[in-house]
Amino acid sequence: MIHPGAARMLTRPATSPDTATAIALRGIVKEFPLRRGATVRALDGLDLEIAHGEFVALLGPSGCGKSTVLRLVAGLEQATEGTVSVEGAGPADLIRSHRLGVAFQEHALLPWATVRDNIALPFRVAGRPVDHERVAALISLVGLRGFETARPRQLSGGMRQRVAIARALALAPDVLLLDEPFGALDAVTRRRMNLELARIWAEQHITTLLVTHDVDEAVLLADRVVVMTGRPGRVRHVREIAIPRPRGTDVTRDPGFHAIVDELTALLDDPEEAP
Ligand code: ADP
Ligand code: MG
Repeated sequence: MIHPGAARMLTRPATSPDTATAIALRGIVKEFPLRRGATVRALDGLDLEIAHGEFVALLGPSGCGKSTVLRLVAGLEQATEGTVSVEGAGPADLIRSHRLGVAFQEHALLPWATVRDNIALPFRVAGRPVDHERVAALISLVGLRGFETARPRQLSGGMRQRVAIARALALAPDVLLLDEPFGALDAVTRRRMNLELARIWAEQHITTLLVTHDVDEAVLLADRVVVMTGRPGRVRHVREIAIPRPRGTDVTRDPGFHAIVDELTALLDDPEEAP
């Protein structure tokens, strides 16, 4: 017999700030070695917390360290100073337990494998039996039914991106990291993909950190937009996006949406530091 509150406790964290935090970066300094012992400081005192089920978009000038933040959370880089915790542990634990879904700009699909096999890949990597029902459900979720046996080269750029996102979702991750996942797409396809991701996310509510340089995309998708300073990067401004969900095409025609986009664009165009 399960306690009536147990199901809720299993799906939703308690309200205390510590357990509500899915990702925490505290006092992050990241330096990269250059030649002859010199270093470049990519991040300098970055603090960022992301709540369970929250969608945060990271905006900032090119080279400010956005990808570095994602790579730190993904455990692909180590911080020079500061701490990174994901689901209360280090990134390595999350990776070991396959609870992290990642889609970066270079989507790296296996060219010889079908859509179905590309999406099933994480099961094989994790040494788990492929959940064919889930793979089929993901194919529907990203609108690729009928293309199960197609190879990547037979797909458009937008369809390949959708395969990459479905693959990132394959093992029902707790945390989704997206680095410019639509960067290579034309504006129309990109907007379509944004709406697609908004729809998928409305169904799954996975803690998501999206790096983008597209302000519209950030405002359309995120609960909070975090604007970084130029290199060395740290958090310059945080903007809550209170636009109700689900957010569809109508949102992008709303004056309130454009007001937020203009506000954030002005901030990005302004090289001055916020006080
Ligand atoms: P963004 O994604 O915001 O464009 P990055 O995180 O890729 O920025 O890079 C931030 C800074 O760190 C840049 O100046 C970049 O040149 C530097 N950098 C990133 N990765 C490395 C690396 N592996 N070695 C040396 N410098 C790096
Ligand atoms: Mg980058």
